[in-house]
Amino acid sequence: MQDLTEGVARFQRDVFPAKTELFARLATHHSPHTLFIGCSDARVVPELITGTEPGDLFVVRTAGNLVPAYNPGGDGVTASIEYAVTALGVENIVVCGHSACGAMTALAHGDDLSGAPAVAAWLRHADSSQARTPATGDVPALVRQNVLAQLANLATHPSVARALAARQISLHGWVFDIATGTVEDLTAVTAELAA
Ligand SMILES: [Zn+2]
Repeated sequence: MQDLTEGVARFQRDVFPAKTELFARLATHHSPHTLFIGCSDARVVPELITGTEPGDLFVVRTAGNLVPAYNPGGDGVTASIEYAVTALGVENIVVCGHSACGAMTALAHGDDLSGAPAVAAWLRHADSSQARTPATGDVPALVRQNVLAQLANLATHPSVARALAARQISLHGWVFDIATGTVEDLTAVTAELAA
């Protein structure tokens, strides 16, 4: 915890004073342009890799950057997507996978997840990702196919489908490579392509 408390002190001393105007505006305005759905992995930091400021990204991070297909019963991911699209009016949604993803590695290698039943259940949202990936054990291929599969899941959400139909939003699939810091843009699914 000491690292965190020292970090907070450093933020208040060195970072915040340089951004007082930004935070003063953000205190009463919340209008992010992008919903960024990434993996919870500690090495994938959305604001850092996109060079964005506070207020720019509405961020959802899940294990394996998985997006459950729409379920009217609601869950945290669904609610966050619906809020970002309908209330905040984001213009872009990025689903970002990454190299060496623990979730994708476990699936690609067929790891025994009996000791982590909640993880095993959650990873079922990547069933279609695996179905799209012919070679077993190919983690990079699964990472890519998973991003595309999660974009498809995203489009099942009525709020997203409506925004796509109205051409108010664009969907993007990215893969971040930890070793090189590069971001590969797999696709830009526009309203026209999705129609
Ligand atoms: Zn990951």
